[in-house]
Formats: sequence, structure tokens, C-alpha cells
Amino acid sequence: MVTNKQLADLIFPEIHETIDDLEKRFPPRNLPDGAEVTRFAPSPTGFLHTGSLFTSMICKKLANQSQGVFYIRLEDTDTKREIEGSGLKLLEEMKQFSIVPDEGYLGDHEEGNYGPYVQSKRADIYKVCIKYLLEQGKAYPCFATQAELDELRANQEANKILPGYYGPYAIYRDLENDERMEKIKSGTPYVIRFRSEGNHNNKIKVHDMIRGTFAIAENDQDIVIYKSDGLPTYHFAHACDDHFMRTTTVIRGEEWISSLPIHVQLFEALGFKAPQYAHIPVIMKVDENGNRRKLSKRKDVEAAVSYFLDDGYPSEAIIMYLMTIANSNFEEWIFQNNFSHMEDFKLSFDKFSLDGALFDIVKLQFFAKEILSRKNKQEMYDLALEFASKRDERFKEYLLKNPEYFKEIINIERESENPRKDYYKFGGMLDIIGFFYNDIYDNSIDTSIFNPNISHDVIKKLLNRMRDLDTSKEKNDWFADLKAIGVEEGFAESNKIYKANKEAYLGHVGDVAEVLRIALTTRKNAPDLYSVMKILGNKEVNRRIDKIISLL
Ligand code: GLU
Repeated sequence: MVTNKQLADLIFPEIHETIDDLEKRFPPRNLPDGAEVTRFAPSPTGFLHTGSLFTSMICKKLANQSQGVFYIRLEDTDTKREIEGSGLKLLEEMKQFSIVPDEGYLGDHEEGNYGPYVQSKRADIYKVCIKYLLEQGKAYPCFATQAELDELRANQEANKILPGYYGPYAIYRDLENDERMEKIKSGTPYVIRFRSEGNHNNKIKVHDMIRGTFAIAENDQDIVIYKSDGLPTYHFAHACDDHFMRTTTVIRGEEWISSLPIHVQLFEALGFKAPQYAHIPVIMKVDENGNRRKLSKRKDVEAAVSYFLDDGYPSEAIIMYLMTIANSNFEEWIFQNNFSHMEDFKLSFDKFSLDGALFDIVKLQFFAKEILSRKNKQEMYDLALEFASKRDERFKEYLLKNPEYFKEIINIERESENPRKDYYKFGGMLDIIGFFYNDIYDNSIDTSIFNPNISHDVIKKLLNRMRDLDTSKEKNDWFADLKAIGVEEGFAESNKIYKANKEAYLGHVGDVAEVLRIALTTRKNAPDLYSVMKILGNKEVNRRIDKIISLL
């Protein structure tokens, strides 16, 4: 009679290492008490999803704050779904958020003693573990064809039986080893399945760092652990890798909770101590109809991290915003700490809100405004240039041509106690500040936006007089001069006075300022007019006024 050992040797003749050898090759890490070893384990199947950024941020933070290790493992065993080059791209995107691992897969190379960190390079390690399970009779080759599996499912459905490959429905589970050997020798294709001793009517207790302890049905499925392409499935690779890479805390999306019973069994069958688990909430959004749903790669631009990077959102703001989703006490903390020293914040699983993972772009913009308002002009310049160098050639040219001019522009109502919070991204910034540049100004003049209730003659008169406004005066005095011109030309000195007696006036002081604003900036909304005039300088102010007058 063929023994389990003989069968295992037939399947993996080239494998001589044992689990004990692997234990020695990957010894427990020498880390301080309480240090957490976390990992981010992306599959190279596309862009960096906002949810993945959220997960990796949490992994890194927890490792850092406990003096542990954060590493990256590339999970590329699903070769059909793999997108060439996406692993490297994911790493590059993460780097823009300062999420850099301590070890592991780094895109173009690997670092660390627990590798390889790319699953497709770990085939031998998985084989050692599977060989062990085969020898123990805890795994077996399964020869079921697709047709047999389809028939099984159809029968189960017709008879209202829980579907799957388990217990009495696991048709190759109890084949004699002799027969298994014969089939393998004759070249019958097979996969290897785990032999589950569980029963789905039993409940087991599992523990999650966020959800606590809860009961869940035991696994009874003989899941595939080794595919015909020679690679393991996610479940099996998870058990082997997180054990031999010595992960202490597996942080992953809550969609994996339902697989936990499988994982618990696999760890036990392999004789490994299971790690701690923290299943983090999936990021949702409230859609147009007011319903909550998962961020969708197809429907939601905010599902892809690249959307924010391409539009020049400060990466810091995105991270801070994601932290508010992770921990309910973070928002108050970051305000108290004036949006700095985020590394001092202690993320904790206790403070995770399970139903609060709602992505709110307006709130992200609010955070981004807070952050950008705290930057000085040099920092703003550097950030703008960094963005423009990658994504906006034209903006880059303006920035490089005259750095000091940009800094003056961006410094309007900045570097003060109560800075203006008007920018939340760098994408489109040139459209907002472009009027400061003479060539852009000349190409954007639009006299049709002047208030139609004020005649062109009056506009011309006002502009002619306002060219002499003196910006070397204090702002209040400058404004008093502007007001005086308005009053002399028939405008009320305040909106209130105007409203009380509309017939007596042509408009109010706000209308007067608007005439000047449109003439100098080509738009109705612009930064502080006094500062604009100062930056443009007398000569340019006069040139613009002349130009507008000539067009009216
Ligand atoms: N490769 C898996 C995924 O992308 C990783 C899940 C995990 O972190 O264990 O969903």
C-alpha cells in the first residue's frame, strides 16, 4: 500500500527541506516587546486603490509606533489577473505618501532576511509546507474536472444543499493512495486540496483586534491550496508567508473576515501560531442617491489614488484625511497640534469606527486647505514645482521663469496669524493665478463680465481715477481712497446706505472695487485687490487700465 510519504515524494521529488529547516532559515525576529510586524500585501493587478493606501498607511503607522517592522509582499500568484509593471507603480505611488517599507519588495529590488517577498519566487517554500501536509494526510491531490465540479454544484443546488467541495461531496477526498499514485503517474491533471476536519454547523471563536471576539461557522471546505500551475492559492500562501515572515498582525480589508475560519485551520494544520488579525473597514461613499456603497474602481474617480496625485492634492492632506477615517479622535488631535508632528499620534484599534469609513471629498479639501494655509511661500513654491514638473509643463515654465514672482503671488494673505485658506490643490492653480502673468492676462480679458448696470462711461471714469491709487499707503488708507473715488463718482460708501436709497446712487463701494478687480484680474473673484495691485506694480496697473479703457 502506498503511504502518504511515498505519495508526497512522488508529487514533490525535488523537495528535501522540511518545515523545521524553514523555521531555522526564517527565525523569529529579534524585536522589543510589543513590536508589531505588519505587512502590506498588494496584488499587482492595477493602480493603487484609495482603500489600499488606507491599509498600507495603517500598517506602516502601527509598525512605526511600536518599533516594529513594516514590509511589503507582492502577491502575484494569480497570474491571469496580473498587470505587467503595476507592482513597481504601486510602490512609486506609495512613496509619494511617504509610505516606504522597512523591508520587502521595493519595486525593482528586495531588502530583508525573510524573502523572497514576491510570492511567485517562493514556490519551493510553499512546496515544503504542502509536502508536509500531504505526509500528514492533511492534504490530498484532487482530480476533479471542471465538468465534475459543475455537476456537483448543480446537484447541490437542485437539492438545496450547501454548495462546495466538502465532506461527502469531496469526491476525491477518500481515494486510496494507490489510485492517487496511478492517476498522477498516468498524467491526470490535479490540484492539491486541504483536508478539512471541520463542520459548518459548529461555531468557532475568532478574535479581531477591531471587532473583538466573535463566533463564526467552522470551515468544512476542502479548499484548493495548490493550483495546477504550481502556485498556491491566497489562503495557503497567507499562512506560509505570514508565518515565515514573522508577521505579528495581519491588517487587511474586512472582505477577508469570512475566510478567517479557513486560515485558522491552515495555521493549526501546519503547526503554526496564527498572527493577530485586524480587519479594517472598507471605504465607502454616499452616492448621488444618498446610498452608501463601496468606492468603485469603475464609477468613482476617488477610488484611484492617482486621481488625487494627478490633480495636485497635497499627499500629506490625503494621509491626514485617511487618518480621520481610521481613528475617530485624530481630527481633534491634529487641530490641537496645528497640523504637524503626525508621527506623535498613536493610532489604536480601539478607536476604529466600523461604520464611519466614508470617503468625503469635501472634507479632504477642507484638510488640504488647512495644510496648505500653513505652508510658507518657499514650501508652496517647492510643492507647486514638484507637481508641475510631473504634471503641468506650462505651469512649470512660469514657475521656473520667475520663482520670486510666484512666491509673492502665493504669499498674499499667507504667513500671517490667520492665513487665507483658499488653495487645496496645485492642479488648475495656473488658471487661478494666471492673470498675474501679463501674457495670460492679455489673452483672458473679457469686458462682458462688467456689471451691465454700470455704463461704460462710468467704468472708464472710475478706472481713470483708480490708476493713481497708492499702494505704498496702508491698506485701510488705500481703501479709503478707493471709496472716496466711488463716492465722488456717485456710488454709496456702503451696501447698507445704497440699499436704503437705491435711486440716489449708481451702486455701492463693492461695485467700484469690482470694476477695478475685473480690469486688473479679468475675473470677479480674485485674491485681495490691494495685494494684487502691489504685486503688479504701477506700470502694469496702468497698462491694464489703458487696455481695458481702449476696449470699452
Ligand atoms: N493580496 C491580497 C489582496 O490584495 C492581500 C490581502 C491581505 O492583506 O492578506 O487583497
